[in-house]
Amino acid sequence: MSKKEIFGMNLEELQGAFGEFGVKKYRAMQVFRWLYEQGVTSFEEMTNLSKADRELLSANFNLSSGSVQVIRELASADGLTNKVLLEFPDKSCVETVVMHHDYGYSVCLSSQVGCNMNCAFCASGISGFERNLTAGEILAQVYYFQRLLQPKGARVSRVVVMGSGEPMLNLDNVLHALDILHSDYGQCIGYRNMTISTCGVIPGIAKLTAAGRTINLAVSLHAASDTLRTKLMPINKTYNYLKVIEAADAYEEGNGRQVMYEYILLAGINDSKADAQTLADTLQHRNCVVNLIPANPVPEKGFARPSQTVIDDFFQTLKARKINVTLRKEMGKDINAACGQLRANTLRED
Ligand code: SAH
Repeated sequence: MSKKEIFGMNLEELQGAFGEFGVKKYRAMQVFRWLYEQGVTSFEEMTNLSKADRELLSANFNLSSGSVQVIRELASADGLTNKVLLEFPDKSCVETVVMHHDYGYSVCLSSQVGCNMNCAFCASGISGFERNLTAGEILAQVYYFQRLLQPKGARVSRVVVMGSGEPMLNLDNVLHALDILHSDYGQCIGYRNMTISTCGVIPGIAKLTAAGRTINLAVSLHAASDTLRTKLMPINKTYNYLKVIEAADAYEEGNGRQVMYEYILLAGINDSKADAQTLADTLQHRNCVVNLIPANPVPEKGFARPSQTVIDDFFQTLKARKINVTLRKEMGKDINAACGQLRANTLRED
């Protein structure tokens, strides 16, 4: 029988798994801390466990957190963004990005290998959908960077689930991982410092609302009408524009967190002043912020970013209508680590 994987288990799951082998309950908390506070990758490093217990655990359990392989690593010229292509034991790969902000380190996590949402402008779905990531694999992306930061006395203090994949289609595993990161005996990251970005999968938004965490919700809107949104994002046929916004309203009401609407600016497609006005018509009186993302180049997709004047005009039009608006800080564009540029396999071929 193959050994049970423990990386990704929460405290109760560790207690249950160890209990079957007669390992004392308090050991589960010790192991939890070694895994998620210290980020160790082997049972031998868990030095407050007896040798017998360490041997028992390694004979019966697998600890794969250290077995992710770095296939490739890229650093942006300004040194603030690092992207890695991580490979899991089944050879699936995902990209993960760490960004150094003035307030600390933020990791952009992938939730799936590939993606099947087929948004017209995004790189993540180009080679299709492979599979969901497990909670352990989501955590492994954070701990890969945490282990590098720890010796410098630094830590990952913020996570955004905005890498490849649609997190609402893998919400159980995403939440399981975020809850572990939130734990005082894990990375102790406040839910307010976590963001999940969705293309608008309403059942997932509703489930997150019901989960009652103060996690930030970001919704990829990208168009101010159903016709255009459907062209850009096929998911709009199933969950349309206004319904998505209503689901986000319910999230804001239930969880007390201002919703962020992401809006890519695609030259000549959704960037006119009229588009900005229509967007403002929909969002005025809502507790939200619009985050404008000038399109990042994805060669296969052929969209262009608007000129700076057009970007500024769009921004000012929203501002004049009293909409909270921000322009996304661009990081890592020179290494294709910016929004929508993450993909599963091309780094291998570069
Ligand atoms: N599936 C989720 C999370 C991944 S995408 C979602 O759709 O929100 C993270 C953000 O990057 C989204 O807002 C996405 O629409 C945006 N994005 C995708 N392709 C992009 C591109 N070429 N340029 C700029 N942003 C892009």
